[in-house]
Amino acid sequence: MTSQYSDSTLYINLAAVRDNYLLLKSKAKGAETAAVVKANGYGLGVKEIAGTLKKAGCKKFFVATLDEALELKDSCFRRNDGVEILAFNGIRKGQEKIFCENKIIPVLNTLEEAKLWGKNGNNLPACLHVDTGMNRLGLGLKEAENFESKINIKYLMSHLACADQPDHPKNAEQLKAFRNIEKFFPNAKKSLANSAGIVLGKGYHFDLVRPGIALYAGANTVVTLKAKIIQIRKIDRPTTVGYGATANVAKGTIIATLPVGYADGYLRVLGNTGHCFIGGVKVPVIGRVSMDLLTLDVTKVKNPHVGMEVELIGKHLSVDEIAGQAETISYEILTRLGSRFDRIYLEK
Ligand SMILES: *Cc1c(COP(=O)(O)O)cnc(C)c1O
Repeated sequence: MTSQYSDSTLYINLAAVRDNYLLLKSKAKGAETAAVVKANGYGLGVKEIAGTLKKAGCKKFFVATLDEALELKDSCFRRNDGVEILAFNGIRKGQEKIFCENKIIPVLNTLEEAKLWGKNGNNLPACLHVDTGMNRLGLGLKEAENFESKINIKYLMSHLACADQPDHPKNAEQLKAFRNIEKFFPNAKKSLANSAGIVLGKGYHFDLVRPGIALYAGANTVVTLKAKIIQIRKIDRPTTVGYGATANVAKGTIIATLPVGYADGYLRVLGNTGHCFIGGVKVPVIGRVSMDLLTLDVTKVKNPHVGMEVELIGKHLSVDEIAGQAETISYEILTRLGSRFDRIYLEK
């Protein structure tokens, strides 16, 4: 979809992505820092994100699916430039040749997948995933201990379930399990930590760290979402606003309508609870969020008018804060950002 005439703009600061990467790299000194760019670079545009990180020296990129891997390769890494792409979600029967030809590294999550990769007789690298407590993907600990195969296991990985809760006992449990299993794979590079895992400390870093979210919603602000008011209404008698008439408004209230709704990823749950900013003034969402529109109480704003710019995400309201308001996580806010915004990539 084009957004040539859009009243809403999503600014994506690539310099901030780069700075976040360099910061993570400095925190994980001693390990190599890869980048997780699945789901279209957490919704921000995989081509631009990966291109930026490659320039910053990143050499390993994780995606979820084979389709994502091929898209990434085609958009960024056509030439043989020493970059590796790894696909978390594994390999299906019939895909071996595509992985090999494109030099995509499969993350092997089951014995069947490992067998499939081995059947090729190829010596191309693979990443073996061991489940240390997530109980989602990966070989069981017993399966990993008894793993016998000639395939080239270049990487051994596992994934933490509770890394964002540093005091959770599961972190130490998973670390211990990973330490026990890594001995069986002396030649593989080991990888355990996602963004939050990096913060848990050096013991969790091993050879390769795999941050995603800290690149996009990290220390340096990457995402700013702004939209322009398309209508102003002065309430001249007590009435209600929006679907379901859920918000009562008094005479004298001024309502501004913005062309952003839940179809753009502004979550419906923010109706009557979220807020935005106009020139530093906090303006509450009033009434329900519609598919394409939301309404704000701008009574406090000086001279509110059509065309006035409103900040929905940015300096005054971080992705983490809006996620908190919506009782979700920053990952979901980012990956739901819609396709109707004019997307502007900032280089500095
Ligand atoms: C998504 C993902 C990551 C990145 O996690 P963040 O919390 O975004 O840093 C790392 N490893 C695996 C297996 C993942 O699925």
